Amino acid sequence: MASHIVGYPRMGPKRELKFALESFWDGKSSAEDLEKVATDLRASIWKQMADAGIKYIPSNTFSYYDQVLDSTAMLGAVPERYSWTGGEIGFSTYFSMARGNATVPAMEMTKWFDTNYHFIVPELGPNTKFSYSSHKALGVDTVPVLVGPVSYLLLSKPAKGVEKSFALLSLLSSILPVYKEVIAELKAAGATWIQFDEPTLVLDLDSHQLAAFSAAYTELESALSGLNVLIETYFADIPAESYKTLTSLNSVTAYGFDLIRGAKTLDLIKSAGFPSGKYLFAGVVDGRNIWADDLAASLTTLESLEAIVGKDKLVVSTSCSLMHTAVDLVNETKLDSEIKSWLAFAAQKVVEVNALAKALAGQKDEAYFAANSAAQASRRTSPRVTNEEVQKAAAALRGSDHRRATNVSTRLDAQQKKLNLPVLPTTTIGSFPQTVELRRVRREYKAKKISEEEYISAIKEEISKVVKIQEELDIDVLVHGEPERNDMVEYFGEQLSGFAFTANGWVQSYGSRCVKPPIIYGDVSRPNPMTVFWSKMAQSMTSRPMKGMLTGPVTILNWSFVRNDQPRFETCYQIALAIKKEVEDLEAGGIQVIQIDEAALREGLPLRKAEHAFYLDWAVHSFRITNCGVQDTTQIHTHMCYSNFNDIIHSIINMDADVITIENSRSDEKLLSVFREGVKYGAGIGPGVYDIHSPRIPSTEEIADRVNKMLAVLDTNILWVNPDCGLKTRKYNEVKPALTNMVSAAKLIRTQL
Ligand code: GLN
Ligand code: ZN
Repeated sequence: MASHIVGYPRMGPKRELKFALESFWDGKSSAEDLEKVATDLRASIWKQMADAGIKYIPSNTFSYYDQVLDSTAMLGAVPERYSWTGGEIGFSTYFSMARGNATVPAMEMTKWFDTNYHFIVPELGPNTKFSYSSHKALGVDTVPVLVGPVSYLLLSKPAKGVEKSFALLSLLSSILPVYKEVIAELKAAGATWIQFDEPTLVLDLDSHQLAAFSAAYTELESALSGLNVLIETYFADIPAESYKTLTSLNSVTAYGFDLIRGAKTLDLIKSAGFPSGKYLFAGVVDGRNIWADDLAASLTTLESLEAIVGKDKLVVSTSCSLMHTAVDLVNETKLDSEIKSWLAFAAQKVVEVNALAKALAGQKDEAYFAANSAAQASRRTSPRVTNEEVQKAAAALRGSDHRRATNVSTRLDAQQKKLNLPVLPTTTIGSFPQTVELRRVRREYKAKKISEEEYISAIKEEISKVVKIQEELDIDVLVHGEPERNDMVEYFGEQLSGFAFTANGWVQSYGSRCVKPPIIYGDVSRPNPMTVFWSKMAQSMTSRPMKGMLTGPVTILNWSFVRNDQPRFETCYQIALAIKKEVEDLEAGGIQVIQIDEAALREGLPLRKAEHAFYLDWAVHSFRITNCGVQDTTQIHTHMCYSNFNDIIHSIINMDADVITIENSRSDEKLLSVFREGVKYGAGIGPGVYDIHSPRIPSTEEIADRVNKMLAVLDTNILWVNPDCGLKTRKYNEVKPALTNMVSAAKLIRTQL
């Protein structure tokens, strides 16, 4: 009877690590205090898994910031700019790499596959020196986990000054000696198992990259002898070619597969067979979601696998590390018991894994399985989940197309007649600075400490302040500033049916930052208008156009825990229909410009290229559904928070928005190169002219320079001038001068045209 957990959340059930880290960074507590919190968390996690009966407990999955950064530290691959001179890597070097310090910027951070977790990208080059430089406390009788050497290199980037074409995999022979040292040390400490996470194996790899896996694990063979070696993959099914390479590695004795996102892997194991005598770690419990497992279904899957790999060679596991789900359902006091019975967070998933392993071994906990199947049944039949009308409306959307009747240039003409904007119109992305006072007002209203009347008047005052500022700055298309929203998804989720919210369902996003995704449990509908009241109020304060401000369906979907009992696109279409109603109500309320943010559209892109087209098709379709019914004279904007959209430019054009504002300020060249290469873009476009993530105030000249660069590539009449994202994290003393310079730059260039 064997059970295994790929990895466990590090933050703690009440985000203990977050608070310890932030207090340490603020100089309010010592390194010892931080270490104590970490030690306690680690110990309690191990104890929890041991108490649940888990046989293979992962260790070394704890991290003060990020597991890839830990590998960088282990390998001594500290970029030169941190002036590390060898020896142990202490907190100061470690956190400087993660967060930068007064003189040196941080290393780059990027998304971990298709999750919302961000890792620190290693910067390597021909001169990087590797040496074993860091070790962490390991538990007895655990399975130490390391980021595998090939994935480590494939996730790296060439350091500054190193040729972009530098073959990172050529460093394999330099890092393997360090891995050997680590392995030797683990062996000496009594380890009998070791787990290498090689998630890049689920990507589209070429033969050269695949060969690197064979080379690496062949080279490590003697170092690994005597150990059981698990290669863990996750986040998608494993391509047949990679499966072949992987299962022929001599030094490897066990394979971990994600059988949730990798539904095809199951067929592959059945058809291609499984090497005899090796272990299969079957990831049947979903590490990316919060739903209770359908234990009966999992048991059937496991039994079919057992028939292939043999009774003593099957290990029940999670689909991936549980760090991508919430920590413990026990701390949810807001959720009602019916919804709670449908859920399992990390702590509950550990119990599920063990229960499945016991059932396989003939010790099925009948009461536990019965309760689970009752909960599954209640979820299937609950009237809170199903809304016939919504189901029908969403089903009717499939297979048909939805787009506005006229083309974008005709629409832009019609809009211009009404809006009468100058060339290079100026605007902002939506939010204005969120002050302490504003947060207090929202909090007190939520806690019913102030009346609705008081709340409305406070928000109204804030909107009027923001409107006045924008008029004084002479911005052309205004926003209301979003003072009533704490979060662009939660705000809408709270007003839509089919959503639930947790009190402590935090998931690590990066470092000490966590997000608390809403749970979409049922069919989505919009009982009442959500933003019309505020938008109309804001419009009534000015004669300039006021943008209605909505979050798009794809972003709401991608930033939530999504139901697993229907395809994602089905849920997305339902949200699209709800947003469509809102768009139409805004239009009817006299709002002429409506922005529908799709900040997370690219984030949902599947890991494998073969699946991109399908996703982009329904995602873009969902966006168009929201606004296909508006008049030509209503201007639809969208906003996106990333600049690497070169590969999806045609899908973005296919969204058919009238105007798109996008992040750009950190990479002018990349974005503009698409247009230089001749992509035809007829809609309005506002590549951000300055970086709102930094407190730095850009000068008029600098902004003008940027705009001129864009004008060299884009038509004058389609270019907009705006910052690259919302201003909510900035302060007024940064926002006012920055926007003043932005407007001056636009005016200056207008006179030069
Ligand atoms: N309208 C949102 C804002 O300005 C957009 C935020 C985002 O793109 N992440 O805050
Ligand atoms: Zn943005």
